[in-house]
Amino acid sequence: KLYNLVQDLKGNIRVYCRVRPFMPGQQTSLSTVENIEEGTITIRVPSKYGKEGHKPFMFNKVFGPSATQEEVFSDMQPLVRSVLDGYNVCIFAYGQTGSGKTFTMSGPKELTEESLGVNYRALADLFLLSEQRKDTTSYEISVQMLEIYNEQVRDLLSTDGHTKRLEIRNNTQNGINVPEANLVPVSSTDDVIQLMDVGQMNRAVSSTAMNDRSSRSHSCVTVHVQGRDLTSGAILHGSMHLVDLAGSERVDKSEVTGDRLKEAQHINKSLSALGDVISSLSQKTSHVPYRNSKLTQLLQDSLGGSAKTLMFVHVSPEAETVGETISTLKFAERVG
Ligand code: ADP
Ligand code: MG
Repeated sequence: KLYNLVQDLKGNIRVYCRVRPFMPGQQTSLSTVENIEEGTITIRVPSKYGKEGHKPFMFNKVFGPSATQEEVFSDMQPLVRSVLDGYNVCIFAYGQTGSGKTFTMSGPKELTEESLGVNYRALADLFLLSEQRKDTTSYEISVQMLEIYNEQVRDLLSTDGHTKRLEIRNNTQNGINVPEANLVPVSSTDDVIQLMDVGQMNRAVSSTAMNDRSSRSHSCVTVHVQGRDLTSGAILHGSMHLVDLAGSERVDKSEVTGDRLKEAQHINKSLSALGDVISSLSQKTSHVPYRNSKLTQLLQDSLGGSAKTLMFVHVSPEAETVGETISTLKFAERVG
């Protein structure tokens, strides 16, 4: 039986898969990935994880280990550009720690022009397009950057005492918003690079204290766009959430206690809440359970309705972690 993850473009939800290459110097243990062909990835499944054999999983698109940042971005460029036409867009990176989520969204530690991730490319592209439209529309673009850790929201762009926990508000005028978080206007790629540095520094500060907290929190870069038609004066709003999710790996509950267990439970809860929301949207059920996590509350306006969602599912090639890879692909199967 074929594991048909996504047979079709279901409404506005798309699921892409990206396979990380083996790391340089890493002993190339037998790859989990048997084959990649257009939208299908075939996984070698050892007997420990069910019926031994080869399982194909289907996506809207599969990027192999040699896909460049540019190739990945150019495929999603139309989605990004729709923000300037007033759409709400969510782009998620999902996968176990080490599978390449941060690489896709931000890039590697040492950034070069070629290795810039989706966040930078998306903003650069919005600047370019808004410049091209400047005779008809005047755009204002601003950015927020939040972290959700243990179901608490923090501002990654705050310059003073960033540990303050923030409330998500919902009002009729602005919809869902986090009014206390800094909202910073940006107009150039340099502005964006500076901001991302601040955000990454704020994340790193807590990592040393909490031991790689970044893999156990969600980070969300939100781009707010306001466009004013120069002839009619009509205003439109669009937004884009770029979400680097917490690592999806299961934690053995018999081995962790205390804070580590609490973190694991919070991650588990919010990732399943996200899965539940997206799968109920793609099945078009009438009740969508947004209230079950901070993440889905925050993104409520941008998931469903006319909003567009892209889930990037990341796969590590190592046979050692095939169990996690299979859980990742099963999650994707549920949201597709
Ligand atoms: P995650 O955020 O999922 O924990 P990372 O993005 O940090 O994973 O990736 C783990 C390591 O693999 C990093 O050193 C990263 O630079 C590298 N890496 C991930 N994806 C790629 C890729 N497509 N090409 C080259 N290196 C990659
Ligand atoms: Mg990461």
